[in-house]
This record gives sequence, structure tokens and C-alpha cells, in this order.
Amino acid sequence: MTMASRQRVLVIDDEKINLKVISDILREDVDVILAINGEQGVRKAVELQPDLILLDVLMPNMDGYETMTHLCHDVRTSAIPVIFITALNDSSHEERALLMGACDYIQKPLYTNIVQARVRLHLQLTKQRKMLEELAHIDPLTSLANRRKYEDVISSEWQSAIEHQECLSLLVIDIDNFKHYNDCYGHATGDKVLKQVASVLASQVNPGEGLVARYGGEEFTMLLPRFSQHEATKVAHQCMSEIEHLNLCYHHGGQTGQVTVSVGGATCYPQSSHLLSEFFDRADNKLVQAKNTGKNKILWDVSDKLDVPVK
Ligand SMILES: [Mg+2]
Repeated sequence: MTMASRQRVLVIDDEKINLKVISDILREDVDVILAINGEQGVRKAVELQPDLILLDVLMPNMDGYETMTHLCHDVRTSAIPVIFITALNDSSHEERALLMGACDYIQKPLYTNIVQARVRLHLQLTKQRKMLEELAHIDPLTSLANRRKYEDVISSEWQSAIEHQECLSLLVIDIDNFKHYNDCYGHATGDKVLKQVASVLASQVNPGEGLVARYGGEEFTMLLPRFSQHEATKVAHQCMSEIEHLNLCYHHGGQTGQVTVSVGGATCYPQSSHLLSEFFDRADNKLVQAKNTGKNKILWDVSDKLDVPVK
């Protein structure tokens, strides 16, 4: 989590004395990044992703408004809140800045308390917005990514795989006979099983190498960019064996059963003519087939052999 680290404020002003004054006011609370003109400011905003930008209106060459336009038109910087700073005592400038999307406006001369209060307020809002965004992508029970996050990530990985002609593997994983387990021990214990299985799945993928998500109910997805079928199958086997080692038993119909999972998998080299939904369906169909033919197994979709690009 990035929440614990100090927040960063980028100050863009053409006068060194102003940069110094503002930086003296803020540096106790935050890390201050300085830029002496609009071009440098835009570049540093893209590179360093500050939490807030303080932007001087009157600057030679690229003024504050033009700088703001650049920031707004770049997806990498458009969400960063901007406070305009100027000596202009004219409400039309204030209005123009706010209409352009500035979150606030501070007039010179700068009063330490006012600058601090406004900066703190907007940093607090930024922090809350980021936390809400993170929460909106996490499954509260298992702490895995939720389905929404999975959909976001697979879309971007799919595009990236098309661009770089790389392969993409997908596992759809479902806990076998989960209903029996719930019926036997109740939903609270069922939730514990979901957590344990989730934690095993998460432990099999290094962060940055893939994404494990709770797709819904007792179904999970594991997205493995750049994993060949062989590599992804290995991960799937590892998951199955670790889950078996959890040794979670239940009684059903006079018999003792153990928690296992079924896995459907698919690997492809996505191309712009392919449909992402079909790729998911191929893995999901294999999961259904695994479920219908005895469970506790991996079935892999192999209809993609011809899609391997000739390099
Ligand atoms: Mg100026």
C-alpha cells in the first residue's frame, strides 16, 4: 500500500522565490517537487505522479492555463488535482481556472496558514478517493481482486498481448462440492474455506506476474500474462496440490469428502480479430467439462494451436 508514504506536491512557478516560499510552507507535511516552468511541470507530473499540483497562472511561454490544458489532456495526469496560484485579483481568472477543472484557487500574497489548510484539505480528499478506488477493486472476504478489477486487468493485458505478440494464459478455478461443505459446517466455516483457498491461489503467483481474483461465489480466475500453456498448467497443478494439503474434510450422504478444485484453462496469442469474451468462454467451458467428468482435475483448451504467431 502506498498510503503510508508521504504525499507529494508538485509546485510549478516561474519565480524561484515563490518556489522557495511555498516549499518552506509545505515541506514539513509533504514531499515537495519543484518546476520552474510549465513544460518542466508537465514532465515531472507525468514522471513523478504527485498527489496534488500547485500551479502559478502567470508564467512566460506556457502559462498556467496552457499547462493545465496539457495536464487535463494526458490520461497520466488528468486525475491529479490542481490548485491555481496567482496574484491576479480578478474573479474572472478564478472562474476560468475553476471551469478548467482546478479544484481550488489561492491568491497571493501567500498566507502560510491558508496555503497549509487548503493543501491539507485537498490531500486528504485525494487520499480518501484513492482508498475508495482501492476498496472498489477488492473482494472484502478474501482480500483478492474482485471481478471488476479482474475485468479491468484482463482488458489491458489482452491489449498489451496483442501489441507485443505475447501469449496470455487464463485459469478458471472452482471449489468442488462447496455446497456440501457449507451444508455440513455452515456458511461461516464455508467462508473460512474460501479464504484459505484464496490465500493458496494468491501464494502461487508473484505480484506483478499475474492476477488472482474472486470471480464470484466459489469461483476464482487466475490471469497469467506471458505464461505458456506448459507454465500455466504447472501453476494449476501446484494450486491443486496445495489445496489438497489443506486437508479440509466434510461429511455428506454418509461419506467423507475433501475440498478439491476443478480448473479450466486456456492459452492464446491474442489478435485484434479475437474476442476476449471467447477466450474466457474457452477456459470456462473446460471448467464445466471438468466438473461434469468427475471434478478435481484440470482440463485445458487446445483449440488455439494455430494462433501461435510465426516469428
Ligand atoms: Mg509567475
